[in-house]
Amino acid sequence: MVVKSTFAIYYKLAILAANMVLSNFGQRFGRGGFRKRLSRFSMNKILGLFSHDIGIDLGTANTLVWVRGKGIVIREPSVVARHRKTKEILAIGSSAKKMLGRAPAIIETVRPLRNGVISDFDATAAMLTHYVKKVHESGRVIPRIPRPKVVLGIPSGVTEVERRAVAEAAVTSGAREAHLLEEPMAAAIGAGLNVESPEGIFIVDIGGGTSEVAVISLGGVVVGRSIRIAGDEMNEAIMNYVRLKYSLLLGEPTAEDVKISIGTSTSSKEKFAVVRGRDLETGLPKSIKLSSSEIREALAPTVQEIVRNIVDTLEETPPELVADIMQRGIIMAGGGSLLPGIEAVVTEATKVPTFIADDPLTCVVRGCGRILEDLSLLTRIRTTRGM
Ligand code: ADP
Ligand code: MG
Repeated sequence: MVVKSTFAIYYKLAILAANMVLSNFGQRFGRGGFRKRLSRFSMNKILGLFSHDIGIDLGTANTLVWVRGKGIVIREPSVVARHRKTKEILAIGSSAKKMLGRAPAIIETVRPLRNGVISDFDATAAMLTHYVKKVHESGRVIPRIPRPKVVLGIPSGVTEVERRAVAEAAVTSGAREAHLLEEPMAAAIGAGLNVESPEGIFIVDIGGGTSEVAVISLGGVVVGRSIRIAGDEMNEAIMNYVRLKYSLLLGEPTAEDVKISIGTSTSSKEKFAVVRGRDLETGLPKSIKLSSSEIREALAPTVQEIVRNIVDTLEETPPELVADIMQRGIIMAGGGSLLPGIEAVVTEATKVPTFIADDPLTCVVRGCGRILEDLSLLTRIRTTRGM
């Protein structure tokens, strides 16, 4: 412990000295912003040598972090718990998720990106800072100074202002460069598709708060939409169904567990789950047994709404690209695509073969990771998109 802190002090002193030498250099050899920026740039570059470059999937439900050369190192729910009055951050990630629906009144648990927009900037920034720090702390005698290059996957419904805010949050959290990438593009890259080819790619990413549908060709999104109907809506649909049919009030985490354990969108072998909640008539606890066909019935309108958006996007797609998509199929990613049978429903509605990407929950972060290995790809994508 003592050795570790002594090391840390020497290390910080050395960095401080280097910083002073460099800023002296900046002052002596010229005045004005450019020189200063040059010296800060060199400093960041030097510190960058000690940093891990990271890719972050800032999802509405889950945040994943990829470290260059290591792969996925963090996989946590996008939840922040904090003191309602002082706004002090109390927990981030799975420990905060455990507090959802259970915390005392003084603690508020927020999902800062719940609807695919950054509804709570401070919480988003706190989350980013926490993970950037965590990546640089893990198991080292000499602490690393976080000046990483960061590639961030964000929902495509995020506005220009929010986009700038996230980039700023990343810089505040220590990033020396922050590149933003829309989730459908990141998901397509992560699914191993060649987004630069002139052949059309149809990608659907069903997350927690948003479903993103996009047709990609020549490194850009040709047609795309982001809707706020996804996994969370499915949970709510289950809660509403149980409330109406059994007068039973379920918590959202329970509804999500039921969806993941017995949820389906086609008629398959019947499965059952016992759930506990509060009886609305007596106000007392009650447990009931739910079947997978009941969950299918509860989820049908939500699934149909997502499918309708897929069909509408397909109708807007230029015919040349439709021909490619007919051949290559629709690719699905995101946690929502794990709902058994959803690809069959999409195939039936669109008459286009539909496939689930390998490990759909990690496509976006793997896409960000690939971009880190080859930043020129990001420039090529950006140029085409004119961002
Ligand atoms: P985001 O990118 O918005 O963070 P994810 O891609 O991580 O979202 O997906 C999270 C969503 O996927 C949650 O709503 C979760 O309930 C849902 N999900 C995860 N596994 C399953 C499953 N097996 N069946 C249905 N939904 C699932
Ligand atoms: Mg996602």
